[in-house]
Amino acid sequence: MTTPIPSTPIHTTMNQFVAVGDELLVGGLPISQLAERVGQTPFYAYDRGLLHSRVTELRSALPDGVKLHYAMKANPMPAVVGFMAGLVDGIDVASAGELKVALDAGTDPHEISFAGPGKRSSELHQAVAAGVLINIESFREVSILAGISLKLGLPARVAVRVNPDFELKGSGMKMGGGPKQFGVDAELVPELLAKIGEYKLAFEGFHLFAGSQNLKAESICEAQQKSYELALVLSRHAPSPVSFLNLGGGFGIPYFPGEKRLDLVPIRQNLEQLANRARQDFPDASLVIELGRYLVGEAGIYVSRIVDRKISRGQTFLVVDGGLNHHLSASGNFGQVIRKNYPVAIGNRMNTKSTETATVVGPLCTPLDLLADRMTLAVAKPDDLVVVFQSGAYGASASPHRFLGHPEVIEVLI
Ligand SMILES: *Cc1c(COP(=O)(O)O)cnc(C)c1O
Repeated sequence: MTTPIPSTPIHTTMNQFVAVGDELLVGGLPISQLAERVGQTPFYAYDRGLLHSRVTELRSALPDGVKLHYAMKANPMPAVVGFMAGLVDGIDVASAGELKVALDAGTDPHEISFAGPGKRSSELHQAVAAGVLINIESFREVSILAGISLKLGLPARVAVRVNPDFELKGSGMKMGGGPKQFGVDAELVPELLAKIGEYKLAFEGFHLFAGSQNLKAESICEAQQKSYELALVLSRHAPSPVSFLNLGGGFGIPYFPGEKRLDLVPIRQNLEQLANRARQDFPDASLVIELGRYLVGEAGIYVSRIVDRKISRGQTFLVVDGGLNHHLSASGNFGQVIRKNYPVAIGNRMNTKSTETATVVGPLCTPLDLLADRMTLAVAKPDDLVVVFQSGAYGASASPHRFLGHPEVIEVLI
């Protein structure tokens, strides 16, 4: 190969991966070699270097004193959680299963918080015994935690997850405002706080999470400000000083043509102002933001191999060995209203000049099993590798693996 290095960014806005010659590089390895190393397709590959640089960039864009948590539901692969645990200030878990992974990763229990609308009492037991912070989401949880605290002789560490009286504008998925199963409605929180005081739980603060996948900095800033104001009002009813104020996250990543990266400059300014105010209003508190997708989404790819190439009434289909059973999000069936193509490329033909319009489908017997709908791709043959980018979050763990009985996907951290 005589291809010059430095290599070509694969996309003007999604330039985190590069190609050398025809081969996409992942963690420094040409993709064909990586596929041999993994030993099978399909697989997910997550790039340590990209995870590391994302956290470093974000930290330098955040004001001092704002803590960064990783919401591990975005990517719960134990190796990823272990790696992230060394980079962030805390891990947010949403089940006892995730709690185990976070603890196994060596995370300090003091820096783990547990949220979720249906925590079983067995999960609450485990969380109190582990000494993690529990984000209370109902009155029921207060009574159960009181019983557990007595039994274990350990006061439960709690924060109140508030369902705010506003929404995160422009969010891909709204998780606060209006009637919601998440958190306790802001207007009921004073009563809840009184109950927490009465039962002598160890109250630490508030958690507000308005929504997910937002690319508009102004909306995120507005939600953070409103969350802060709301926490300030509610704190007057708190049984003890606030030491933890989680303002949520919702930072999005670009998936589709025309989407621009989130501008961190206004977010930094906004958080700086809030951190300054917090020094007065909540002198004992740390401000926290919790991010999943933003930290891991762009560091991962999903790789499948072309099994067949078919022309049906003039349309070219590339049939690959993986699909919605491993990557529901890329198929458009995980929360999207209108299906759009994730960025896709033929990973071993990155600089091939001849292109065609092709549709990439998986092996499942359903028309929903679609990875790319009439995209311009390098002309590809069976055994070539199809890469879906922006696949580090809500991929493997958010997909129906058993559907149709194909082999499980493998995940590697490289
Ligand atoms: C899902 C979730 C997150 C992570 O959301 P992302 O969009 O992946 O950043 C954070 N906090 C809570 C409470 C969540 O439910």
